[in-house]
Amino acid sequence: MGAAMDLKKVLERASIRSSGAVIIGSNIMVDGHEPNYPIRIITHIHRDHIKDINKSVREASLIIGTPPTLEILRELGYIIPEHKSLPLGYEKFIKLDDGEFKLVPSKHVIGSAQVFFRDYILGIDIGYTSDFKDPGKGTPIMNVDVLIIESTYGKPEWSRPMKDVTEDLFIDLVKQLLAQGPVYIYGYHGKLQEAMHILRCGGVIAPFLAPYRVYRVSKITEKYGYEIGELYLETSEMANEILRTKWYVLFEHLSKIRQRVMSSSLKAHHIILTGWEFETACRRLNERIWRIALSDHGDFEDLMSYVSQSSPQLVIVDRARGGSAADVFANEITKNLRIRAIPMPISAPSIESFMR
Ligand SMILES: [Zn+2]
Repeated sequence: MGAAMDLKKVLERASIRSSGAVIIGSNIMVDGHEPNYPIRIITHIHRDHIKDINKSVREASLIIGTPPTLEILRELGYIIPEHKSLPLGYEKFIKLDDGEFKLVPSKHVIGSAQVFFRDYILGIDIGYTSDFKDPGKGTPIMNVDVLIIESTYGKPEWSRPMKDVTEDLFIDLVKQLLAQGPVYIYGYHGKLQEAMHILRCGGVIAPFLAPYRVYRVSKITEKYGYEIGELYLETSEMANEILRTKWYVLFEHLSKIRQRVMSSSLKAHHIILTGWEFETACRRLNERIWRIALSDHGDFEDLMSYVSQSSPQLVIVDRARGGSAADVFANEITKNLRIRAIPMPISAPSIESFMR
């Protein structure tokens, strides 16, 4: 690469569209929908990665994701007909007419994957990280020519220097609060199950309670190796008895926090799990509410570290999900690593400026 013509060719086979679809080669769209691509890959269960899935189910011939991803999506109410669905394990290559691809593990949520594509047409490797944390440890680095990368925490000020101690602080806090009354934990699907796993591995033995959807998703993650331990549906008879003991941890979707805080006893403590906390790993918001900086994304440093270890010739930064952080991150890559980086989607005139 290097010449302007080449970049143009590359962007025809690796790009991010305003729909949020990541286009790789001539057959694959990832995490979004575009007309006329027969294969839709879903990297993981988060809402901004399953956009327009119903359109893809109607128009594409194959919906591909890891087995836990497809199973959980069905549990969450998405209809993916058997004849169109291909559950695909990690590191298994699928050959197409213009290249071959595989899913690569990533540390983000249960079932999450990166996408690796060997392009026969241009003779290059293209990789899409999707969301990840712990590059080089939990998330293997793909060595590719063109790297498409997320940018959620793409601004230099979005670093979490205390990220290595967060899990231990979280475990200690829950143990401490359990001695005073019930503990409610709030997060998104995936992160709630990770929290359960962390607490069990950290020696928290109190029973867990959950509403229906959280309970069902947790049962699936348990099947795939998460430590979930004693977990009851909140409305079950067993849960009724546990509620009386006041010694339990209840897991709830973040969207329900208001109702829960209003309706729970004054003895209950509430913990919000969020990545949007950079100064401290654990912050007390008031008498009853705490915030723990447990993120399922890498911070700015992690993003940079992935790019430098991958050492691609071109980086495409996801602006469809990252917004303005993508512009900042692309700039930092070019400035600090001297690798050409383009945020996408961007307007055609702006692309022209990168061709120069
Ligand atoms: Zn995600």
